[in-house]
Amino acid sequence: LLNAVKDFLVRNGLLTLSVVAVVCGCTMGFLLRGTQLSTQAKIYFSFPGELLMRMLKMLILPLITSSLMSGLSSMESKACCKMGVLTVTYYLWTTFIAVVVGIVLVIIIKPGVGTDMESHRLGGGPVMTSADALIDLIRNMVPSNLIEATFQQYKTDLIPILKVPTRTVQPNFVYVFPDENDPKGRTVYLELTPPPDVTYKTSPGTSQQMNVLGIVIFSATMGLLLGRMGERGAPLVNVCQCINECVMKIINAAVWYFPFGIVFLVAGKILDMQDPSTLGKKLGWYGITVLAGLFVHGLILLPFFYFVLTKKNPFTYIRGLLQAMVIALATSSSSATLPITMKCLLENCHVDRQIARFVLPVGATINMDGTALYEAVAAIFIAQVNDYELDFGQLVTISITATAASIGAAGIPQAGLVTMVIVLTSVGLPPDDITLIVAIDWILDRFRTMINVLGDALAAGIIAHLCRKDFPLSAAEKAGASYGT
Ligand code: ASP
Repeated sequence: LLNAVKDFLVRNGLLTLSVVAVVCGCTMGFLLRGTQLSTQAKIYFSFPGELLMRMLKMLILPLITSSLMSGLSSMESKACCKMGVLTVTYYLWTTFIAVVVGIVLVIIIKPGVGTDMESHRLGGGPVMTSADALIDLIRNMVPSNLIEATFQQYKTDLIPILKVPTRTVQPNFVYVFPDENDPKGRTVYLELTPPPDVTYKTSPGTSQQMNVLGIVIFSATMGLLLGRMGERGAPLVNVCQCINECVMKIINAAVWYFPFGIVFLVAGKILDMQDPSTLGKKLGWYGITVLAGLFVHGLILLPFFYFVLTKKNPFTYIRGLLQAMVIALATSSSSATLPITMKCLLENCHVDRQIARFVLPVGATINMDGTALYEAVAAIFIAQVNDYELDFGQLVTISITATAASIGAAGIPQAGLVTMVIVLTSVGLPPDDITLIVAIDWILDRFRTMINVLGDALAAGIIAHLCRKDFPLSAAEKAGASYGT
């Protein structure tokens, strides 16, 4: 057994280093918490982690555009259509199942029942409806300016107007301000851990988040059209293929920096963390419920679906994805993890290139099983804290809105916390009560991001299997197909 473990560690050097980095980061973070570092010192300390995030984000845009454009351009319309329909159906189905798992667990465990927690009713009526959220999702699919889409705020209009009566700034609370510059007052800003004595103003359109969904839709359309153009489209397809190859090479080189970056990324986050002893028992149970749900969904149900649909061993396949899951844990962003997920799928799981190039970017944008599960659990938890009885109809509403909210959430840290307002308002719960769960959201976010990434990658394996006749494996892929068989 010892030899087998040694063999595994040697063969999976990078993965081992990344896991060691997470452990080192946690230890270092907890040790340094006692040393009262100044804000400036914390910024310097977190710098290597910041560089890691920047590297990953830098790769998202060229990876998504070149993958989709070169991948779809070489596909037959019929095969493309089949793959698209299968992907979207599978994504919706698994997201819905995740929500059901969450609802069942939170109803059984009842983490919010009891009295160690006060609800924070700040007043102000919910204005956002699910229809608004849907319209925003569609709005993001059609970016008015492509260049702007690469740096615009992802959900400018998604968050409802909340009338917050006070602007007192306290750490670890959510602040949602109506935009004073917007005549309709629709745009609001949400800040999770503001430093004291700072006044925040909204500035629509200047946030650093990309409109990934808009870019995915545009690139997919371009890819499909390039494929129909034959000879004339070939030069651009070649350019995209070259960019794609270069990006994969950059990823291969950058991964060796990752373990180092992870140490500081994780340690920096732990330095900023709220003292765990101040968290109530209920919040603890809420966290356990979310984690249990993620475990059941990600490590039992999804592998089961994979096994039923492909008749292959899901855990051999998941072994090839461990590197991506560690990065998801460290970054809390499925979009930032996308380059590594792509690398794992192509190099370890040997999924067909064309399928991976389509299924993964789309999944990173719309398929978030972990987020959907968490949103359902959180909404029902908040209802329990408020002593608010939910009837069956409201549970159905929560399951539908949590599915929609997860589709609308961007693949960035704590995006699910923002879109959860939709779920809360759909059943008349106070949206301000998201303040109840903010304290532990950053840690739950890491685990739900892992399941989001796992869900996308398993989907790619399943779709590749179901479409294997339309996309026969290349000789190289056949030769290297050691995982998932
Ligand atoms: N951080 C998650 C992701 O990137 C989204 C969320 O649930 O907040 O997948």
